[in-house]
Amino acid sequence: AKRLGRNTLCFFDPSMQAALDLRSTLETELRQALKGGQLRLFFQPQVDVARQVIGVEALLRWQHPQRGLVPPGDFIPLAEENGLILPIGLWVLDSACALLKAWQKDPLLRDLPIAVNVSARQFRQPDFVAQVQHILETHATHPGRLKLELTESLVLEDVEDSIAKMASIKALGVRFAMDDFGTGYSSLSYLATLPLDQLKIDQSFVRNLPGKKNDETIARTIITMAQGLAMEVIAEGVETEVQRTFLEAHGCVTYQGYLFSPPLPLEALYEFLRRSNAV
Ligand code: C2E
Ligand code: CA
Ligand code: CA
Ligand code: CA
Repeated sequence: AKRLGRNTLCFFDPSMQAALDLRSTLETELRQALKGGQLRLFFQPQVDVARQVIGVEALLRWQHPQRGLVPPGDFIPLAEENGLILPIGLWVLDSACALLKAWQKDPLLRDLPIAVNVSARQFRQPDFVAQVQHILETHATHPGRLKLELTESLVLEDVEDSIAKMASIKALGVRFAMDDFGTGYSSLSYLATLPLDQLKIDQSFVRNLPGKKNDETIARTIITMAQGLAMEVIAEGVETEVQRTFLEAHGCVTYQGYLFSPPLPLEALYEFLRRSNAV
């Protein structure tokens, strides 16, 4: 402890200081990353029972000059706290829409939708709807090819605001998926009132299929619920053929996971598509 003035004791914890230093370094570097083009999108294929690619999810990576490829879990929480998630989120949306536009010329890519993750802070911006509309118009993107992934907790945090914004964006032709479905506390009554196109079964329920009775029940219930509400259902985190078989047997016919492919850089995605969706 270091004495400051007469009665003030200030306890200096070096590990805490180190953590604070790392944070501010990370923040400075993240600003540079955004300006300097170090952010990259990877794309994870979403496939049907015939292993045809029916869509991709855009997943953010930071190509750090020293640290290499940094996963989103290592910088998105900080970006959400300091607000950098707003320009980052716009960059992701803009990049996805620009790609969708470019893909329209290629028969292999033309019908492929891109799913983009939206953070709560980004979605709660009063002008979020206008931002989405503006980006779609800038690139003259087919809105039906863009899918926004919202989590249950995001929607629940302000249901009124969520429903209003979703309805406006839906009216533009954009589609919605409920990400990590089953991990929040959605009530059935409002689930039916949301303009959702797809439920994504969270990977935590897929991991122990088949065998873990509770997870089997949850997975089956989500599939039944999606069918009843005329929504698509996709399972994420599918790593084994037995998981896939269980899901198919219970009516889930679209999948995302390492069994098919990890998230890929663009060139590798094109290669993957050439092999699986040959035209
Ligand atoms: P998420 O949206 O639930 O994305 C799925 C995560 O599961 C991805 O991690 C993906 O690489 C991983 N994954 C895919 N298949 C498998 C599998 O078979 N097994 C296992 N164990 N994992 C699998 P990733 O890319 O590290 O992303 C983590 C999270 O970061 C995402 O979770 C999403 O919440 C967030 N995120 C990613 N990109 C963005 C973005 O552009 N904006 C925002 N706001 N969040 C993003
Ligand atoms: Ca997602
Ligand atoms: Ca997810
Ligand atoms: Ca997740």
